[in-house]
Amino acid sequence: SEKESLYLISEFARDYFHRVLLEEEEGKAIGGTYFKERGFTADTIEKFALGYSPQQWDAFTLAAKEKGYQIDLLEKTGLTIVREDKQFDRFKGRVMFPIRSMSGRVLGFGGRILSSEKKAAKYLNSPESPIYQKSKVLYGIYQAKQAIAKQDNCYLVEGYTDVIQMNQRGLEHVVASSGTALTVEQIRLVRRLTNNITLLFDGDAAGIRASLRGVDLILEQGMNVRICTFPEGEDPDSFARNNTLDQLQDYLSANTQDFIRFKTSLLLQDSGNDPHKRGQTIRDIVQSISKVPDAIQREVYIQECARLMDISEEVLFNSLAQQLEKSR
Ligand code: ATP
Ligand code: MN
Ligand code: MN
Ligand code: MN
Repeated sequence: SEKESLYLISEFARDYFHRVLLEEEEGKAIGGTYFKERGFTADTIEKFALGYSPQQWDAFTLAAKEKGYQIDLLEKTGLTIVREDKQFDRFKGRVMFPIRSMSGRVLGFGGRILSSEKKAAKYLNSPESPIYQKSKVLYGIYQAKQAIAKQDNCYLVEGYTDVIQMNQRGLEHVVASSGTALTVEQIRLVRRLTNNITLLFDGDAAGIRASLRGVDLILEQGMNVRICTFPEGEDPDSFARNNTLDQLQDYLSANTQDFIRFKTSLLLQDSGNDPHKRGQTIRDIVQSISKVPDAIQREVYIQECARLMDISEEVLFNSLAQQLEKSR
């Protein structure tokens, strides 16, 4: 079938980029040096089948055609871009991160640019294709699935390198949404393995407020969500790299909050002493609680919220009842 051909091409591409990284002069000198500077070991490079795409504009496309793959299929994977009579590589000159399904098939790639002075996007991803739909994949899920089930928890981080560096430090139950807002399909992938998600946010988090939407989506799926933010200027990658496994685990356990605490303190920072904004904040949190399908769980959250906001449970229950009525 066509889909099977696209998988085969993607798997050929993974092997090709990986081989270039490990065996060719340019790959070793540029890609190898880059990963070494990031602190990735040879074992890590193997585990995630990291690679390098040569700077020559059609190196991969030529190799794939040589192997007998048809140009229209190469174009469908997005690995080759066809413009008029020219065929060139989408990812030329980038280090490559293969993206795999839960069952291990290669669906697409993320490619990171090496030199920061270039104007091009830092990360480039495969375009949507019959085998790659970014709203339905989580980077690292194949390597993480057993650990997620065993630990009965899943860390959800922002980027590829966060997943990789945490793995290298010894925490394997980590996946990334890779730059897209979290979707219901992604949450359901995790729910097959555990009911618990811990969101780990970069410490530059302009996006934290935007990510609150993701919190509600997780609650709507009947899952428990906790949140941990990293210090200013750090992300899970840099933190895992600069600390031992013990330090990383200590940081995570000391700084992980349930969503009520997290949302309350975040929103209270915004509203300060303004009574009107405080009211809005409370309605906001009650709205989140109203997404929780289980009534007992809702009650527990209401109690926690009442405590944190110093407000009566009765008022909150009334507001919750209104919300539930509205969403009916
Ligand atoms: P690095 O440590 O390699 O600089 P990062 O993973 O810390 O990268 P962030 O800037 O924190 O990168 O972004 C998180 C994720 O968002 C990235 O891993 C990538 O998947 C995605 N992303 C970042 N920048 C872009 C971009 N310009 N275009 C598309 N996706 C991007
Ligand atoms: Mn290998
Ligand atoms: Mn980051
Ligand atoms: Mn980073």
